[in-house]
Amino acid sequence: MTRYGDRAGVVIIGAGHAGYQTAESLRQEGYEKPIILISDEPHLPYHRPPLSKNYLLGETDEERLRFRSLDYYSEQGIDLLLGVKALRIDRENGYVLLDDDREIFYADLVLATGARVRRLSVPGTQYKGVYYLRALDDIKPIETCLKSARNVVVIGAGFIGLEFAAVARKLKKSVTILEVSSRVLARAVSPDLSKYFSILHQSEGVEIVCEVEVSEIIGDHKHVTAVMCTNGKKYNADIVVIGVGVIPNIELAEGAGINCNNGIFTDEHGRTEDAHIYAAGDCAAYQPPFAGKLVRLESVQNANDQGRSAAAAIANQPKPYESIPWFWSIQYNIRLQMVGLYDGCDQTVIRGHMDTNKFALFHYREDQLRAVHAVNRPADYIISRKLLTAGVSPRPEQVGDGTYDLKKLIA
Ligand code: FAD
Repeated sequence: MTRYGDRAGVVIIGAGHAGYQTAESLRQEGYEKPIILISDEPHLPYHRPPLSKNYLLGETDEERLRFRSLDYYSEQGIDLLLGVKALRIDRENGYVLLDDDREIFYADLVLATGARVRRLSVPGTQYKGVYYLRALDDIKPIETCLKSARNVVVIGAGFIGLEFAAVARKLKKSVTILEVSSRVLARAVSPDLSKYFSILHQSEGVEIVCEVEVSEIIGDHKHVTAVMCTNGKKYNADIVVIGVGVIPNIELAEGAGINCNNGIFTDEHGRTEDAHIYAAGDCAAYQPPFAGKLVRLESVQNANDQGRSAAAAIANQPKPYESIPWFWSIQYNIRLQMVGLYDGCDQTVIRGHMDTNKFALFHYREDQLRAVHAVNRPADYIISRKLLTAGVSPRPEQVGDGTYDLKKLIA
């Protein structure tokens, strides 16, 4: 064992959006003690969303994916340990054990371990040409395989599956999406918006098959050739990309006896039940005021805002995490921007027209605006964020009247 660092500073495990943001915010809050940022990925911390969008299309490069250049970390006194995995937390003695045998001592510890892909448990996922998409290292093999592929099968019609399908269509591949539930994006959006996205992809030439379960992936000479479904249907494939959700990385916290259940429980400051251990991002579960229940969000906004709150608390400048969640997705020339939480809504009002590809769906629960999903309507999205943040609920008839200026309600 090698002892590293001292008990004086902050150790952050995971250098994704949440981990990076925590480190940056600590310095912005005036925190002057040591910061150690640990990542099991070998790369400088980077933006994940472009991986299934313009990075995969070759429209941006690795340098532009990075949050910062290497210099930033040394200038800020952030000790970046790349390519090493935290194996265990020793709470009693206040250190983290790494897989290179180092013991990293902390005064405060931040778990920003994110999430990993959910694996599909059917035979054949070991064939070459079958991929998951989560990290930068996943991209090269996908890119290479995609170049020579004709038939692409996407398993799972969530955001990553649909974004990947859009990229594959732009590259003129034949694309089929297989989805077990009755509609695309079923977990995140209303049936109307699901229908809109189905039609969008179909009009771009994608075949979407819902209510279908994959039973096996078939291969020949070690490479994938097709995907079999339980209904006996077979879909030819030279490449398969699986996007069936993620599992939060909570094992380190669980192993240290910290309260978890599909997420590491935190309060509004990102603090776990251990006053010196925080969690932020995809791995953390929290009950925010706007939700009224425990939620674990998977978004850049959530990772950044929770990271900011954890940093503020550690630096003794508390700023509770109360922001309304927001998210975006890009498919073809469509930019979807979402704000609020859609689940449990009982009324939807449309502003604009779906057939113009510029509209916003305002979702209400018990007459209160809860969420807005805007398609190519950035102005509606921006005002909706302000309305939801201010707790102002426009009347449905005001929303439905495209000439009514919603900004008036904020002024
Ligand atoms: P992560 O980004 O998962 O980072 C966690 C890091 O911790 C990882 O590098 C992981 O390897 C590391 N780690 C885990 N365990 C250990 C350990 N024991 N030791 C050391 N390191 C460890 N969100 C949006 O809002 N909009 C989008 O358009 C969007 N698009 C996306 C596209 C893709 C392809 C993906 C994969 C995600 C997308 N997301 C999007 C989701 C968003 O990227 C995540 O919500 C966000 O990255 C979460 O940040 P995080 O820091 O919590 O976790």
